[in-house]
Amino acid sequence: MNKKIIVIGGVAAGMSAASKAKRLDKNLDITVYEMTDVISWGACGLPYYVGNFFEDKNTMIARTYEEFKKENIKVKTKHKVERVDFEKKKVFIKNLENNSLFEDDYDELVITTGASAINPPNIKNINAENVFNLKSFEDGLKLKKELLKKENKHITVIGAGYIGLEFVEAAINLGKSVTILQHSERILKKTFDVEITEIMEKYLENHNNISLHLNESADEIKISENKVIGIKTNKKEYKTDMVVIATGIKPNTEFLKNTKIEMLKNGAIVIDRYGKTNIPNVYSAGDCATVYHAVLDKNVFIPLATTANKLGRLIGENINNSNKKFIGTLGSAALKILELEAGRTGITENEAIKNNINYKTVFIEDVNQTAYYPGQEALYIKLIYEKDSKVILGAQMIGKKGAVLRIDALAVAILNKMTVNDLGNMDFCYAPPFSTTWDIMNVAGNVAK
Ligand SMILES: Cc1cc2nc3c(=O)[nH]c(=O)nc-3n(C[C@H](O)[C@H](O)[C@H](O)COP(=O)(O)OP(=O)(O)OC[C@H]3O[C@@H](n4cnc5c(N)ncnc54)[C@H](O)[C@@H]3O)c2cc1C
Repeated sequence: MNKKIIVIGGVAAGMSAASKAKRLDKNLDITVYEMTDVISWGACGLPYYVGNFFEDKNTMIARTYEEFKKENIKVKTKHKVERVDFEKKKVFIKNLENNSLFEDDYDELVITTGASAINPPNIKNINAENVFNLKSFEDGLKLKKELLKKENKHITVIGAGYIGLEFVEAAINLGKSVTILQHSERILKKTFDVEITEIMEKYLENHNNISLHLNESADEIKISENKVIGIKTNKKEYKTDMVVIATGIKPNTEFLKNTKIEMLKNGAIVIDRYGKTNIPNVYSAGDCATVYHAVLDKNVFIPLATTANKLGRLIGENINNSNKKFIGTLGSAALKILELEAGRTGITENEAIKNNINYKTVFIEDVNQTAYYPGQEALYIKLIYEKDSKVILGAQMIGKKGAVLRIDALAVAILNKMTVNDLGNMDFCYAPPFSTTWDIMNVAGNVAK
């Protein structure tokens, strides 16, 4: 009998695992259960789809159902796994089309169920019409339909994390005006340090159609005939036509609650560097799982597509006895808001404090390129490094040009435990349209003492 693999959840991590496993061994019997009717798509495209940067929703789909069928991977959409019996190696499934229930058994199980949006329960009328999330494919379709309506002129975004801020660009692109409510004192608090977020906040505050409200939280969505007409906060009341909630996500692991699988408090399944859980023959990856952090040398919850794809692929290899170990995440991530781009990798200063690391930082302003070639812009960099060894632990950059892709170079430096001294003399490329003879990264390395 061929080895039987069941994958629960058919997007980035799940389909990467299924495809890689099958490519390595054509004889594997692989079934993917996915509760929606879309597979192998990229949520990262959603803000740009919603903002009408492109029209065809199918371009967000990486590989189609037919392509997987050709590879002999059985994909069962609209099938929800409701329970798993790890001892008997069985999963219990509901066919959502006809509500029938059945069971299936596995030799190896891959749990890649992702995460769902969390909506703050204390906001009154949160279930009203014209209140949206931006997480699932269906969320994107519904939100875009409303956003394209001319009568919806003003949008309120609750939560200024990556998704909320990317949505701001989408709304502005469609000529809307936007109010952002952030309950804490600054935006992107978990992922960027204050030197970077201050620059982004200033940029948002100076935009004619954006109104940023820090230290302000929504109490009630005002409605008329169940439709949004305004929003009441702890400080004021505003008129608004639509509300988008982007206040965080939670791993989809409720269905495993009464099992012995190890999870963090937030429900993320704990995995090792091979993608294995504490249950024999059970793997997990992506937004429903933890990931090993290369700087902190411990498991963290950093839900990103980059990680989901890499760990999914690694599980596909390890199902085939490759014994591959994940090199670790650095939480490298990027964000664009209108003209401004920001990137980060490694740990922030806040994380250094929380983890009792003896650190120093350097923050400098420079430029992206020479003055005489058109297009010079200000560029900012922050480095976090170990005080004694000078090993670089984290980096963040922001500017209108050239911030994000430089962060990739710093990710390589961090993973390889390079020091600020190394960075000072690193042979980065130079030509007038791209940089200066001493690139901002060299300068930061040399300024760091
Ligand atoms: C708007 C937006 C923008 C983003 N931008 C970026 C970006 O620029 N860069 C980046 O790195 N990341 C980005 N991300 C994050 C990225 O999309 C996720 O990290 C990635 O989708 C995680 O993949 P996954 O396979 O773990 O989970 P998911 O994509 O969530 O897929 C899990 C699947 O499992 C299914 N499922 C859940 N429970 C069950 C069950 N019981 N039975 C059957 N099926 C089930 C779900 O229906 C879902 O389809 C963005 C996310 C959003 C929402």
